[in-house]
Amino acid sequence: MVNWFSKIAGQRQKKTSQTDHTSVVDSLPFYLEKNSELLSADRLHVVRQFRESVENQLKILRISLDATSVVLCWSGPAAEEITIYTSSSLSTDFKPGTFPLGSGVIGLLKDCNKIALAPYQIHSPAIPYYSDNPPVGSFFAHILYCGENDQRKTGDYGILCVDRISTDGWSAEDKALISAMTEQILRNLFLSRDLLFTDVERRTLQLVFAGLQTLNSALDLESVYAAATEALSLIVKTDLFAISLVHDNYHELCYIAGNSFGEILNQKYTLADSLVGQVVKYRRILPETLSHAGNAPIVNGLKLFDTYKSILVVPLLQEDKPVTGVLIIAAQGENQVTRNCRDMIEMIAAQVAIKIDLAQSHERIQQLAITDPLTEIANRRAFQRGFAAMYERAKRRSGSFSLIICDIDLFKRVNDVYGHPFGDQVIQQVANQLKDVVRSGDLAARIGGEEFAVLLEDTGLSGAFDVAERLRKQVEKLSLFSQGKSVPVTISLGVATFPQDSSNQEKLFNYADQALYRAKESGRNRSVCWGSMG
Ligand code: GH3
Ligand code: MG
Ligand code: MG
Repeated sequence: MVNWFSKIAGQRQKKTSQTDHTSVVDSLPFYLEKNSELLSADRLHVVRQFRESVENQLKILRISLDATSVVLCWSGPAAEEITIYTSSSLSTDFKPGTFPLGSGVIGLLKDCNKIALAPYQIHSPAIPYYSDNPPVGSFFAHILYCGENDQRKTGDYGILCVDRISTDGWSAEDKALISAMTEQILRNLFLSRDLLFTDVERRTLQLVFAGLQTLNSALDLESVYAAATEALSLIVKTDLFAISLVHDNYHELCYIAGNSFGEILNQKYTLADSLVGQVVKYRRILPETLSHAGNAPIVNGLKLFDTYKSILVVPLLQEDKPVTGVLIIAAQGENQVTRNCRDMIEMIAAQVAIKIDLAQSHERIQQLAITDPLTEIANRRAFQRGFAAMYERAKRRSGSFSLIICDIDLFKRVNDVYGHPFGDQVIQQVANQLKDVVRSGDLAARIGGEEFAVLLEDTGLSGAFDVAERLRKQVEKLSLFSQGKSVPVTISLGVATFPQDSSNQEKLFNYADQALYRAKESGRNRSVCWGSMG
């Protein structure tokens, strides 16, 4: 006995070790494990307060019952093992940790809710939280159920254990005190869980709100895609995130984040026989289960998405409108997307749908602002921008480019003789020839009434002259008729080249214009290069 008491005295001096061996599971029993994606400082506060109050209750119980250890164990979710949640113990043999459900004396609880061993004898089953055989005279254990039913099969229940040196039986008062304490712990647990659920809802709303704010500031399509990625990354861990827009019977992958898959971008995929097709048809998130087990590919003709274990295809929906597109969320791990996430993702998706719609309208308006309505080629403003950009690019790269300015010959007369509407048709026809000669990187624009300009990227003088002549001949060959009569139409063109003719942007334009004037002066229906004017 002397030995035992000296051990206790030693333990009392090392007070900190008591809190050390209580931090085996730093959570409200098994709550955080189930919802680890939604950790917040407030949640940790609730969890810690619960633990502290239980620690105090166990200590009060230990002192009141003159006990050596009072231990609260909690079952794992699989109901196969028991973990010490927290304890108050004076014994240096106390061993925190996890042990199999049927271990030692705890195993006696298999068919009952309480056990009272007094005296606890040397041949009694071992107490699993002691590493040695400390002098235990009596032992009591009490199950704490969290619900109406016996949760021993499903997990989520506690066991309160008390042991003391005295071999005296457990009195009615002792048992009443233990029962009252278990009820108190359970009430505390329910209250804390309610607080956590409220916090989860609050966190959910905060995340959705943060996501929506990110989306709100996005105007053009690319920014909407990037903002959608950012918003979703707040909610779910994805390895691949894509947006595909729906057109009639196909969809086009217009955005992929998380990897570089340039070659599959802007490709068209049929909606038939694919998960994306089903999502568009049924207007709801699929697959129903969180991992895709069906036979249909995610995207028809593309294996990429089928290699991910967690997949979610979310429709971009607006009420009364056809599905705009889909979000495809993919993760390597299994079950990466919880129910809670799905609800949030749906809320974000609804906003993404609206933002894509707005961005598309915005782009249409932007396009209108730089397009000439009669000919549907670039207008004067777009030409000025394109000219400045091409000039800067060529200067930076020490490259070259050419400018052609052309004007329809004797057009006043066409208007006078055949009428203004026919004149408009002529302007459209000439513009079509311009569209025909430009390559990507070039720019054709209507810069005045019947005056056009062509910017030719990386093109020197002779190349530009060839283009001008081709254009002139194409217009000359046009067969235009008014009131049954053939109306000949020709154009005159002036060409200037950077840097050969000038490395000054304004001069370059003036030189092309002067060359055009020379073409008019010298008989029209011809191309003149400023450099060859002499
Ligand atoms: P030149 O060969 O010297 O260019 O002779 P021109 O008759 O074409 O002379 P000018 O360039 O001065 O005439 C331009 C005419 O183009 C004047 C205007 O009535 C007509 N015009 C300008 N914009 C439009 C348009 O949008 N539609 C039609 N039908 N005519 C237009
Ligand atoms: Mg003119
Ligand atoms: Mg003219």
